[in-house]
Amino acid sequence: SSRVTLGPLVAAIDQGTSSTRFLVFNAKTAELLSHHQVEINQSFPKEGWVEEDPKEILQSVYECMERTCEKLTQLNIDISNIKAIGVTNQRETTLVWDKETGEPLYNAIVWLDLRTQSTVERLINKTPGRNKNHLKHKTGLPISTYFSAVKLRWLMDNVDEVAEAVLTHRAMFGTVDSWLIWARKGPPWPSVYSKTSCPLYFDIPMEILPKVRSSSEIYGLMGLCLQCLGDQSAALVGQMCFQEGQAKNTYGTGCFLLRNTGAKPVMSDHGLITTVAYKLGRDKPACYALEGSVAIAGAVVRWLKDNLGIIQTSTELEKLAASVGTSYGCYFVPAFSGLYAPYWEPSARGIICGLTQFTNKSHLAFAALEAVCFQTREILDAMNQDSGIPLTQLQVDGGMTSNRLLMQLQADILCIPVVKPSMPETTALGAAMAAGAAEGVSVWSLCPEDLSEVTSEKFEPQINPEESEFRYARWKKAVQRAMNWET
Ligand code: ADP
Repeated sequence: SSRVTLGPLVAAIDQGTSSTRFLVFNAKTAELLSHHQVEINQSFPKEGWVEEDPKEILQSVYECMERTCEKLTQLNIDISNIKAIGVTNQRETTLVWDKETGEPLYNAIVWLDLRTQSTVERLINKTPGRNKNHLKHKTGLPISTYFSAVKLRWLMDNVDEVAEAVLTHRAMFGTVDSWLIWARKGPPWPSVYSKTSCPLYFDIPMEILPKVRSSSEIYGLMGLCLQCLGDQSAALVGQMCFQEGQAKNTYGTGCFLLRNTGAKPVMSDHGLITTVAYKLGRDKPACYALEGSVAIAGAVVRWLKDNLGIIQTSTELEKLAASVGTSYGCYFVPAFSGLYAPYWEPSARGIICGLTQFTNKSHLAFAALEAVCFQTREILDAMNQDSGIPLTQLQVDGGMTSNRLLMQLQADILCIPVVKPSMPETTALGAAMAAGAAEGVSVWSLCPEDLSEVTSEKFEPQINPEESEFRYARWKKAVQRAMNWET
């Protein structure tokens, strides 16, 4: 049978918190041609600890690439047409390995992990006025358990193998992108602008750090090109939020809302992070974003499934919640890993309140979905205050957006339309686009209207704003309880 002629293809490795994917797109039309996905195991060795196996991560990438290439071959599509591969990955997840043996020196510490809470509290206590934003004018970040630098400090202080390897100049530190590329190629090991936090402030020797590179420099992999973009930056590119003021929210394990602020970094007065969104080419200027991060979004679904057992699969949640259509006054603040933006409170813990004799698991399911929407609303409010210009619609993507009830609830709680692309793999699309552009492949026009493959669905608010405000005010009360429940 004859080969299908499609022209150039672009691909992406999407190494997320809960799974790894490899996806191949037609570079002219943005059509997703084939993909493969493998789940990633997480371990919780102690309360608040979250780890993944670096070798399993690496293996999952190879498996996804191989299976996708097999599927393409079955479709008579020539894989030599893949001209570029983008890498996008869970940010802030931290790895250390031995550069001589290539062996990991510890499990990957996942971004959600809370083991650095006491270190973070000690650092904050040392700042004038116990100010978690003390370094923010330099780093754009609050002092928090989220960021990789403080995780690395923990590894150096608590894992003998790591301390030893640092002393003998054999240690390599990186995020998942650096690990994947290093494991394939050996040094130099890159970390891109969009994923570098603030190690200098934690007494960490420079030699073990990756070099900061533009997101569009090219690294070889299997004879192809490789180009990195943090998962949230990739989603911003994939949603084509290239204009200042445009924003997207990604609903995965956590929730990440990014708003493009153009060529200038904007410092937040309302608990948001300032970050480099992307830098597409060595000579191109960096583009900045304000980011609001929510630690627990899809993770609450996993918790209802794995810890409470009230659902067997994540898709069952929607049916359960829809069967009641209300939380019946129940509010669920899933502060399992403290609260991120806009509070940055590592000591907050989860709380379920407003229970009555009448409350059942369906109401709890509904409250869990609402929690994701309320957390997004808090971030959007902060962003609107920082920029002075209210957002008029929110673009969304990520695994949780297949839940239509969640999307409708989100529009209701934000009181603005929510727009979801019909091709949900926006993060991978963005990484593939950026990689293609870096390789000189003329990626599809950056104008979504010209692409018949890029269609979307719009969810309009359906409840009146007064009801929305009432529920949001109750949520805020519940958040105060989650922050101060011990006192
Ligand atoms: P990540 O990139 O963080 O690995 P994904 O974007 O792949 O995350 O989304 C996976 C998350 O979405 C999981 O936490 C899962 O519980 C949640 N999820 C997937 N489908 C649904 C659904 N139909 N309803 C609610 N949550 C869902």
